[in-house]
Amino acid sequence: MKNRIYQSLFLGLTSAIAASASYALISPRMTESAISVNTIVTPSIYDAAADFLSDTTPQIQYPLIVDYQVKSGESLSSIFSKFDLSKTTLNDITASEAGHSLVDLDVGDMVQLKITAPGELEHLVYKKNPIDTLIATRSETGYDVQIISAPIDKEIATVQGTISDSLFLDAKRAGLPDKLIMKLVDIFAWDIDFAENLKDGDQFTVVYEKFLVEGKQVYTGDIVATEFTNKGKTFAAIRYKDEDGNSTYYTPQGKGMKKTFLSSPVDFARVSSLFNMHRRHPILNTIRAHKGVDYAAAIGTSVKTVGNGKIIFRGTQNGYGNVIIVQHGEKYTTLYGHLSGFADSQAVGSEVSQGDVIGYVGQSGLATGPHLHYEFRIDGVHQDPLAVNLPESFAVSEKFLADFKAQTQPFIDKLNQATAATPDIKVDTLVAQKKS
Ligand SMILES: [Zn+2]
Repeated sequence: MKNRIYQSLFLGLTSAIAASASYALISPRMTESAISVNTIVTPSIYDAAADFLSDTTPQIQYPLIVDYQVKSGESLSSIFSKFDLSKTTLNDITASEAGHSLVDLDVGDMVQLKITAPGELEHLVYKKNPIDTLIATRSETGYDVQIISAPIDKEIATVQGTISDSLFLDAKRAGLPDKLIMKLVDIFAWDIDFAENLKDGDQFTVVYEKFLVEGKQVYTGDIVATEFTNKGKTFAAIRYKDEDGNSTYYTPQGKGMKKTFLSSPVDFARVSSLFNMHRRHPILNTIRAHKGVDYAAAIGTSVKTVGNGKIIFRGTQNGYGNVIIVQHGEKYTTLYGHLSGFADSQAVGSEVSQGDVIGYVGQSGLATGPHLHYEFRIDGVHQDPLAVNLPESFAVSEKFLADFKAQTQPFIDKLNQATAATPDIKVDTLVAQKKS
């Protein structure tokens, strides 16, 4: 798909250049009929040109314009040799700062060459990406190499959906790009347990940026505002760029979305056993407190540390099997048991950041099936991770509140427009914001 966008942009650009330079555009297919029997061509040009010339006559009429697609194992140097262009020409172009990007061409990249006579390159056009195009033109002294950037337009798009299958399927169906589905999970990770608590009928609205060149989307930007109604409760998040230029998500009231701990250490897993002080143990068959929460997930599923901290234990303990304990600040520890393995790059004493993968779901120790056993302790006392009141987050500071409101109001308006058209969505949070 990327290639198709890419190629059509390239061809569009080719025609624009052809028109402005007042020479006839010869597309690869048209070149076939443009071959003249009177022009002599060297065998190497013939080999390279064979891809687009079905004519067996080894003769080419100049000027030759080639739209060349880079194949596996090729470099600009090997392409130049195919077309009998000299090392001097190659060096003249790649020596400049702008021309240096030609050194690492990727498979599928398009390079246009205009060759006016054997060994004579008049120009080279290389579409670096959907935005930037490199143009090298022969001059008195060598080659002028410049990069031309197409003007980029920004558009705000809105996507809405309702949960009936899974967040992935329903968001995809609604038209939300994949990377934004993951972003949505990240933004609400502290409020919504996507693993356990998603319900049919939950609704989401996502307002995000799209970047376009000549009306065609070249890349997806970030989420600027979003709302998720989970089991009748609505959460909203708005992006705000702070004084250092960092983008962070806040509630419409300016409270941070990121809290000290994630609500779940495994993405998209089901809670299979709750915190219960009087549980009958499935293997020991005795009443024994279950001082944590179990998440059923396939062996090898990533386990993430729910908060910043330091690994204080990593090894084997009787019933827990392979287990990791992370210390978060003074008061908090979390424990992850029955693992199949540990993250390679860490050890006891390693500092870990919230969301870092520390190990993998397994069935080690006393476990009837693959799952993660997860414990949360405050001052050494076990708490129910699903019920504990977690510490709050940072808010927009008082002095930036006016700027925050000014910056985020247009996004809040977009969200409101979208949700107003969908009466099922509760807009309490946003109404509260409007009144304030
Ligand atoms: Zn357990």
